[in-house]
Amino acid sequence: MSARSSMSSCTVSLRNPSESREVLTRPSSAIDRARRVKRIKKLLKAEDAVLVAHYYTDPEIQALADETGGYISDSLDMARFGHEHSASTLLVAGVRFMGETAKILNPEKRVLMPTLDAQCSLDLSCPIDRFSAFCDQHPDRTVVVYANTSADVKARADWVVTSGIALKVIQHLADCGEKIIWAPDRYLGNYVQKHTGADMLIWDGACIVHEEFRAQELEKLKLQYPDAKVLVHPESPPAVIDLADVVGSTTQLITAVKTMSTRRFIVATDNGIFYKMRQAAPGKILMEAPTGGVGAACQSCAHCPWMAMNTLQDVEQVLATGSNEIRVDPHTTQMAQRSLQRMLDFSNNQQVNVFATGNA
Ligand code: SF4
Repeated sequence: MSARSSMSSCTVSLRNPSESREVLTRPSSAIDRARRVKRIKKLLKAEDAVLVAHYYTDPEIQALADETGGYISDSLDMARFGHEHSASTLLVAGVRFMGETAKILNPEKRVLMPTLDAQCSLDLSCPIDRFSAFCDQHPDRTVVVYANTSADVKARADWVVTSGIALKVIQHLADCGEKIIWAPDRYLGNYVQKHTGADMLIWDGACIVHEEFRAQELEKLKLQYPDAKVLVHPESPPAVIDLADVVGSTTQLITAVKTMSTRRFIVATDNGIFYKMRQAAPGKILMEAPTGGVGAACQSCAHCPWMAMNTLQDVEQVLATGSNEIRVDPHTTQMAQRSLQRMLDFSNNQQVNVFATGNA
């Protein structure tokens, strides 16, 4: 029962795939890096700042968060950590909506980002004017949006949910007889609808990274490595999800690598997550799920080009200049907080932890 809005595909400026791989495999020279990290540590202290990084950022950014007493997690948990930390400035390494979420939950703090150009195809697919008009056409429906949305879209929604709790929230709303508008990820929306039977109108957005995982190639890889378990993020296409041993949020997938006795895993999510998975489960073998078919004709090749825009150089620059500050107006903050709070209250009542542990 999904109605697709008349989405045009967003304009995405992608790096050359080989370029994004290079970022992963060719970090700054050790000496340069050590010098830069030393300067960044001083700046963090001088600016009373802490670095919070997303699981999908490049390993050298995540390592910097580890080395400087910062934090690595998903978007909501990054904001939660920032709230509990005493620092007055949060330096958020991720994509734009993550900086906004951190600001919404920490309006009293200064939130900086290494780059303001790092976007997200899900966020871009759901501009507030079109989304709001769509919601206005369906006033009888409860509006549920995924965390990967702008502050304005969160403010327009009744609920904000993460991938870890989406199923439970939608099941709860369906049990209450509510009809739903879901945005923006169509794959996650369809997955949730399939498992809950909820009456959902589903926005037509997609993650450019997860959308590229290929079921046919994954099947071949499974045949080659029959001992491997397949871990899939639900932003992936349904045929890929159907091949999964575990479907879950970033944190749930890290937990699976840590707790399952299997030695080899095929992972269908951004390969930036391997940094935390290796930390959580040293000795396990992690393989990227295939993207783009034979010949790897993929655009993102399992690594988000926007996440890769966060560099050590930008971290230093932003701390030194105070540029790239995130601002969200007070009314939008208040409305978005209300939608986020609904999820947090629900998770407390259900005793479901929507936050990662950081050590998953
Ligand atoms: S990996 Fe996908 S969902 Fe995450 S920021 Fe990049 S485009 Fe958005």
